[in-house]
Amino acid sequence: MRHVYFDHNATTPVAPQVLEAVVSCLGQTYGNASSIHYFGQAAKQRLEAARRQLAALIHANATEVVFTAGGTESDNMALLGMARTARPVSGRRHVITTAIEHPAVLAACAQLEREGVAVTRLPVGAAGVIDPGDLRTALRPETALVSVMHANNETGVIQPVEEIARITREAGVPFHADGVQALGKLPVDVKALGVDFYSMSAHKLYAPKGVGALYIRKGVRFSPLLFGGHHERDRRPGTENVPGIVGFGAAAELASQSADDLPQMASFRQKLEQAVLDRIPGTGVNGAGSPRVPNTTNIYFNGIDGEALVIALDLRGFAVSTGSACSSGAVTPSHVLTAMGLPPERARASIRFSLGLSNTAEQVDALAEALEESVAHLRRISVHA
Ligand code: PLP
Repeated sequence: MRHVYFDHNATTPVAPQVLEAVVSCLGQTYGNASSIHYFGQAAKQRLEAARRQLAALIHANATEVVFTAGGTESDNMALLGMARTARPVSGRRHVITTAIEHPAVLAACAQLEREGVAVTRLPVGAAGVIDPGDLRTALRPETALVSVMHANNETGVIQPVEEIARITREAGVPFHADGVQALGKLPVDVKALGVDFYSMSAHKLYAPKGVGALYIRKGVRFSPLLFGGHHERDRRPGTENVPGIVGFGAAAELASQSADDLPQMASFRQKLEQAVLDRIPGTGVNGAGSPRVPNTTNIYFNGIDGEALVIALDLRGFAVSTGSACSSGAVTPSHVLTAMGLPPERARASIRFSLGLSNTAEQVDALAEALEESVAHLRRISVHA
């Protein structure tokens, strides 16, 4: 059986040109980028070329890009680093985020709470978007940071980042956006967005896992999370993962070349949604009315257990996912969907489909067909159960 991948928000396959860049670096450029000899300088050159490639993709200066070990580290670095910077300087002990962030942000905020920082979690409406008015109300003189994601990993819904940045700039509060699910799916211009920090992850962009970056706007005061050598201009110590970073650079180059493919991806997503809504009763798209990244759709199938549908589709050769976390055997409904006001049973009946650059119209047709059959089957057996 051929397996077809519709789970690109979980991770992406490494693109051939990225693989080539990583392998050539692993094989030939093994120097430590901090060494002053030929081998070290060869690694340093590749590291800095990758930094320029990523900076070009997001319209930043290369010196504003700090490489990390992934999106989780970038988010933690922005949140914990900022809270640490602000506290001794100005006594600011308050952070604002949203109810729909990735656990990398939500768990870092929970840690800040344990350290005595107050955290406000802004709600979202049924469309999955925060109300900027709520942000205005939540700001306090002691607010150290606002952290709002650019695009949501489960629904693809885009937050009004420019508007949020205008509000935070007026208030003189730094603004972090988790851009992990936006990079490569939307044009990202950090200057036009007006963010102070922007988190990125290589493995969502057809590059290897365990590599990420944090954009830190020039002039923003910032404390590091880790302590060690003077790598990354003292902002993130540790010998750089040069092959992984070189892969990230190649992926950034690829992302700017493949921007023209995004409208087609949006049309495939539209085709999938239309087929499901037309052919399967009791379905709907979560966050449909909002601006969304072109590759993601989150659909509920009334009366269906999402986990059972993921397994049924896997048996038919299609990889998709639910947004729920499975802990100690109990499936917790997605915090994103429940924050949007979905009742728990509808949240549990929801599935995320995330398309990638290599998906085809035929694969989308085959997925719609498999969905129709699987949902009908699961509904039949649940009636007889
Ligand atoms: N932020 C968002 C929105 C994500 O979707 C993810 C990964 O799924 C992360 C952060 C964490 O990134 P990483 O897997 O590189 O740690």
